[in-house]
Amino acid sequence: MSKSGLPSIWLEDYSSWGEWDSVRADVAANSLLLNEEDYLHIHKPKRFSLRAFCSCCSEHRDMTFDWSLTFAGNGNLYIAWTELLLCQVCGMNSRMRAVWDFVANKLELPPGAKIYLPEAITPGFQQWKRRFPSAVGSEYVSPDVPAGSLHAVGTFSNVRHEDLTQLSFADDSFDLIISQDVFEHIPDFRSSFAECCRVLRKGGKLLFTVPFFPDQKMTEIRAILLPDGSVHSDFPLEYHGNPMSSGGSLCFQHFGWSMLDDLRAAGFSQAAAHNYWGPTFGHLGSPFFVFTATK
Ligand SMILES: [Zn+2]
Repeated sequence: MSKSGLPSIWLEDYSSWGEWDSVRADVAANSLLLNEEDYLHIHKPKRFSLRAFCSCCSEHRDMTFDWSLTFAGNGNLYIAWTELLLCQVCGMNSRMRAVWDFVANKLELPPGAKIYLPEAITPGFQQWKRRFPSAVGSEYVSPDVPAGSLHAVGTFSNVRHEDLTQLSFADDSFDLIISQDVFEHIPDFRSSFAECCRVLRKGGKLLFTVPFFPDQKMTEIRAILLPDGSVHSDFPLEYHGNPMSSGGSLCFQHFGWSMLDDLRAAGFSQAAAHNYWGPTFGHLGSPFFVFTATK
């Protein structure tokens, strides 16, 4: 049960490819059943709303779905459920609400907890700031400005610049770091894992989402940043939405289970994938995960 009295969205936790590989056939079979229930919801017009409980709003809300993030391949229809079912009040999509739910139901943090998010001009950050008033946010403003310096960005003033591979914070500064779909845009993501570990206190957690491919044992490097600043890639370049840039951000890797080994190699004592699902909370599709790494 979650604190709302509704069934929890949290299914199993996995700490390695081996753990996942031993059950994934069963999970896939179960997913077909889960997806049948999803189809009950999606056999509808082009755009519809699902009434579900928003963990962020702590209220039942209308959550919107459309087919804009759906593509066909190998005879299947792939729906980017993580990006969909936007709460019409707080604006958070499925994966953002899952992260919020994890903090609300799986962590015990006082309102004064020290939290860092590598985002600052997003609607989501404003929600986190309401929940944890001392939360620190940042954006990657420019490679030419010092870490920790403050800048005007659009209608925002005092936006802090940070580079996740070279953070300006002291060691042991935070109880929790929340990173939402950022690491896939960092060529040297292993350095950013190590930096997050450095600035967390012992026992502190990195809680994050990334585009994750559960059938991949290994992370697939999709693009490489060369020393002259150019990009080499054998794949079509893939750009994701970025509030700081109209051109979006290049995706450098598609993460697989070796990501958990990389987190442990970066200094974390534990790393885990947490599987979630639940139409009651507006989470459809399977399997999707949020990840934690504990210092
Ligand atoms: Zn909401």
